[in-house]
Amino acid sequence: MFKKVLIANRGEIAIRAMRACRELGVSTVAVYSEADKNALFAKYADEAYHIGPAPSSQSYLDMDKVLDVAIKTGADGIHPGYGFLSENSTFARKCEEAGIIFIGPTSKAIDQMGSKIAARNTMIEAGVPVVPGINEAISDVDKASEIAENIGFPVIIKASAGGGGIGMKIVHAKDEFKSSLTSIQSVAASAFGDPTVFIEKYVEEPRHIEFQILADKYGNTVYVMERECSIQRRHQKLIEEAPSPAITPELRKKMGETAVKAAKAIGYENAGTVEFLYSKGEFYFLEVNTRLQVEHTITEMITGIDLAKQQLHIACGEKLPFKQEDITHRGWAIECRINAEDPLNDFAPSPGKIKRYRSAGGPGIRVDSGVHMGYTISPYYDSMISKLCAWGADRDEAIARMRRALYEYVVVGVTTNIPFHKAVLRSEAFKEAKLTTHFIDDNNIIEEVKKVVEEETEKGITLASVLDTKEQKVAAATAAVSSYISAAQKQTK
Ligand code: ADP
Repeated sequence: MFKKVLIANRGEIAIRAMRACRELGVSTVAVYSEADKNALFAKYADEAYHIGPAPSSQSYLDMDKVLDVAIKTGADGIHPGYGFLSENSTFARKCEEAGIIFIGPTSKAIDQMGSKIAARNTMIEAGVPVVPGINEAISDVDKASEIAENIGFPVIIKASAGGGGIGMKIVHAKDEFKSSLTSIQSVAASAFGDPTVFIEKYVEEPRHIEFQILADKYGNTVYVMERECSIQRRHQKLIEEAPSPAITPELRKKMGETAVKAAKAIGYENAGTVEFLYSKGEFYFLEVNTRLQVEHTITEMITGIDLAKQQLHIACGEKLPFKQEDITHRGWAIECRINAEDPLNDFAPSPGKIKRYRSAGGPGIRVDSGVHMGYTISPYYDSMISKLCAWGADRDEAIARMRRALYEYVVVGVTTNIPFHKAVLRSEAFKEAKLTTHFIDDNNIIEEVKKVVEEETEKGITLASVLDTKEQKVAAATAAVSSYISAAQKQTK
């Protein structure tokens, strides 16, 4: 096992990785930017080093600064978390060259998945089904428009280097094609430094279903159940659940084995995720995420496998301690990403100081968070407050527990998307698991969010009850919080 691991990340995922280290008796090193000098993760670590100003390019993305701290502190491993340097093959290579173990796949495997076009081609060769589309970069607009017509509208134009839901555009008709192409090319050039784009058929009414993979250095690769992440805004996930209500045991086996095939095709090592689109009984490869996902928590809750600790074991060269047939699952888990963002203002980030904070708890609840009362959510990074997860013996119990936890959760000072989660969780469509990536629009969720906020405002309870733990009072406190938020919104309008 490692002696000392540097965590090249911030917030909740830095704490998640440190928790795994602490349980394994590994010491931890944090690196933090100026904006994070009072952040929980920096205090949680055994050692913490300031590496630069708030902008990520001068701190969390500065490979040499991060490596320098690792070398000076004698760290023998680096956990990259998600985002930042986690899928950067140059960084993985630099770690390899410095003799420090990058806790993730090899730089070669990351490289192979870095370009969506190259990934498509690798998967086609390996016999993994992909969405119908073109397998090369678009160079000639007229030719591309013709191909799009042959594939059949709607099509989706995607940046080959894209990620995080950025660099994608759905095109419904030929006359929109040229202008959409130019706009995505310029987005791709500015966001990813690479204007290369390609086209895929736009899969109608798709569900996003992904498989967790674990692979050791000896060719043992298993799938650890699936997650459904269909509830998205701007192609980014907001609510995930495991298992997927759309998956039968037979389909799980088929898709899981395909995911293993995809991972093996690139010589994948460590924890990763193979993402698929699923529609009308068919599934298509989307991409491999070469890191621990935000939503790994719900897989841990239903399988009892600690994925972060497995990452450390695998990276040190240990063999997977289980085979495919040993992996079982129990119950149902749901994750709501609690973000400081305003669902009633197109999910605009709402950074600021958290004046009051009371997390949810009780049976079946897991909260992974990097914030606390008095913490300031910085505009420099993502707006996540926490990952609120609920486990139940079945889906209905998981939903009931999540609804109860959302009513317990109190955040004052910043606008949150808690009313959004409440609106989704109480909707008939969610209860009936009628999920697609268009769920929010198809079910008028934003109108429902307005109702949630109004109902809670009407209760008009004072903020004093925030610190009372009785269930009714907690619900009342949540209402008070919402009324404060809506009053604040009115003031700013
Ligand atoms: P990123 O790398 O930016 O996360 P992905 O390729 O993983 O992009 O796609 C993110 C989301 O975009 C998917 O979960 C899905 O909602 C939507 N999407 C991507 N490709 C298609 C497609 N061909 N048809 C329909 N929806 C798509």
